[in-house]
Amino acid sequence: MKKLSAKVKITIWYLLLMGLMAGLMLAFLLLISGSVYQQNAMSQLDQTLRSNLTQVSLTDGSLTLAEEFQFYQNGVYTLVYSQNEALLAGQVPVAFTAQEPFQNGLTRLVESGGSQYYVLDFWVPSGWDGGLWVRGLLEAPEGAQGSSGLLWAAALSLPLFLLLAAVGGYWIARRAFRPLDHITATADAISQASDLSARVEVPSGSNEFARLAATFNQMFARLERSFEAETQFTADASHELRTPVAVIKSACEYAETYGETPEEQRETLAMIHRQADKMSQLIDQLLRITRLDQGTEAARREETDLAELVRQVCDEGPWPADRLVRNDLQPLAAWVDRTLMTRLLQNLIDNGFKYGRPQGKVWITLGQEGEEVLLTVADDGIGIPPDQQEKVWQRFYQADPARGEHSGAGLGLAMVQKIAQVHGGFMVLESTPGRGSSFTLHLPAHPPTP
Ligand code: ADP
Repeated sequence: MKKLSAKVKITIWYLLLMGLMAGLMLAFLLLISGSVYQQNAMSQLDQTLRSNLTQVSLTDGSLTLAEEFQFYQNGVYTLVYSQNEALLAGQVPVAFTAQEPFQNGLTRLVESGGSQYYVLDFWVPSGWDGGLWVRGLLEAPEGAQGSSGLLWAAALSLPLFLLLAAVGGYWIARRAFRPLDHITATADAISQASDLSARVEVPSGSNEFARLAATFNQMFARLERSFEAETQFTADASHELRTPVAVIKSACEYAETYGETPEEQRETLAMIHRQADKMSQLIDQLLRITRLDQGTEAARREETDLAELVRQVCDEGPWPADRLVRNDLQPLAAWVDRTLMTRLLQNLIDNGFKYGRPQGKVWITLGQEGEEVLLTVADDGIGIPPDQQEKVWQRFYQADPARGEHSGAGLGLAMVQKIAQVHGGFMVLESTPGRGSSFTLHLPAHPPTP
């Protein structure tokens, strides 16, 4: 049963149901028609016999039958018997051989000679102690129920009817399931050919199959996007690592060929050191982002005074104190991972100075709005054009690709956003080119649910 297709299962199910219903209906019909026929036959017998009763009389011991008396009418045989049960008038059907005792006014079904008869007797009294028996006999057709014709018709038509229903039902089910077959075939072809740009054809209308096809297409689109992002990520990561490696290589070659004085060799070594530091930073950042992404580095959140944390980061950082403005920070408790929050602040302040004006400032503000804690780092620097504001959060994205030796790798903001997300928050960027940018962290004020 498990191996049968849904179409066959549906067909079998409603065939069984229809068969059962047809059987029940037939049984019900037989029951009703049998009892209706019986009622008809009995009342026919009763009426015919009663109309004959008035035509029978016994005068001075001899039987008189009026002219209207009918021996055979409406299938009913009328027989007249003496008080001693001797047949006086009428003809008993040949097949009726039963010795049925007389019973006044009671209709019953009597079996005789392979046939069935309805029998009804009436006692017609005459004088003080005399009288006559008048008997009616009505042959019941074969089966006595009068429904064998119906049975035959049902026996012949039911299998035919069920066969028709099975063929028609299977055909309809196949047509209805055709879009599903098509979706399966396309999805299979996409996975076989690994062509994630292909899409399933969406059937017209808004039925289940159309929704399924649309969901499949959404899934393929997401897969395609994340596949492209992965490819881009690998390419960018290799590129970022290749640059310092190339610098190190050429520095080594230079030192081997021309680095004769200890002074020159020291310079080369210092350059190699800087490039190695850069590579190590890059690998460190990548590892952190990946761990946060995969959840292997969970945020260890504890109740922290954000004002105190901001002060600490600012005091310990390498930034010029007179250009880093943090007016009057009021204590504000939030549930954060101190290490991650320190990293977020450092990245934002670093960027504020990197992309700020030569003597520009960086402002840090802290506050609460309803259920949210807001931490903003703003600058009056070069700003970010609107069409790039979405992209700055992507890994390795840099608005200005012409970078100096001290520039980052475009991972700082990707990490900032990841840190906001693992705290259940998000980042909002507002920026006007030429006037400055502000990055605001929105954090839920309530403690995390365990
Ligand atoms: P990186 O600073 O290493 O290039 P980030 O991820 O920190 O990488 O930033 C990505 C890009 O976003 C930067 O290259 C820069 O173009 C832009 N950006 C970031 N912060 C600012 C800012 N405060 N002002 C202007 N542009 C910024």
